[in-house]
Amino acid sequence: MSGRLAGKTIFATASGQGIGRAAALAFANEGARVIATDVNPETLATLEDENADIQTRVLDVTDGAGIAKIAAELGAVDVVFNCAGYVHNGTILDCDEADWARSFDVNIKSMYRVIKAFLPAMIDAGGGGIVNISSVASSITAAPNRFVYGATKAAVIGLTKAIAVDFVGKNIRCNAVCPGTVDSPSINERMAATGDYEGMRAKFLERQPMGRFASPEEVAS
Ligand code: NAD
Repeated sequence: MSGRLAGKTIFATASGQGIGRAAALAFANEGARVIATDVNPETLATLEDENADIQTRVLDVTDGAGIAKIAAELGAVDVVFNCAGYVHNGTILDCDEADWARSFDVNIKSMYRVIKAFLPAMIDAGGGGIVNISSVASSITAAPNRFVYGATKAAVIGLTKAIAVDFVGKNIRCNAVCPGTVDSPSINERMAATGDYEGMRAKFLERQPMGRFASPEEVAS
C-alpha cells in the first residue's frame, strides 16, 4: 500500500461513527494499517465493509483489562488516536456524581489507560505520535450546558501537554485536536432529542464562527 502513512500502524478508539470513523478511513486511505476499535460492534462492522484493510476490534475504553490485552497483542504502534467521548448535557446542577464519574471515565481516564498501555512499546521502538480529541468546549471556551463535558475536555488538554513535555526527549509527540461543532451522528441525535431539531440546529449554527458545522472528514484530515 502506498501513501504518506505506508508502513505505519495506528491504534484508534471510537472508530464506529463520526470523527473516529472518518479518521480511521483517512488513516487507511493514506496507507496505514489501522486497528479500529469501538464499543459498538454494529457500526464497526459497517466500517469493515467500507474498507477491508481496516482491522476492527470491539473495545470499551472504560475496560482497563481489555485495553491492556490489546496493547500487549499489538506491541509497538506508530500512532495512538484517542477519540472516544461522551456528552453529558447540562449545568453543574444537572450533573450528579454518576454523570461526573461516567464523563471522566469515558472522556479522560480512557486516555490515561490507553496511553499508559501503549507508550512503553512506542518508546522502545524509537517514538511515535499520540493524538487526543478534546474540544473547543474545554479550557479554550465554555459552551452552554456543557459543564462536565467541558471539564473533561480541559483535562484532555492538560493530560496531552503533560505527556508531550515528559516524553519529547523520547521522540514521542502528543497533541490534542479541539474541534468546534462537528456534524456527527451523536450531535444530530442530541438535537433531535430536544424535540425541536430545526430550532436547536439553528441555535448551534448561530454560534459557529464559520457559519456552518465542520464535517468529520475535515477534522480527520
Ligand atoms: P459520536 O459522538 O457520534 O460517536 C462517538 C463514538 O464513540 C461512537 O462510535 C461510540 O460508540 C463510541 N464510544 C462511546 N463510548 C465508548 C466507550 N466507552 N468505548 C469505546 N467507544 C465508545 O462521534 P463524534 O461526535 O465525532 O465525537 C468523537 C469525539 O470528538 C468525542 O471525543 C467528542 O467529544 C469529540 N468532539 C465532538 C464534537 C462534535 O461536535 N461532534 C466537537 C468537539 C469534539
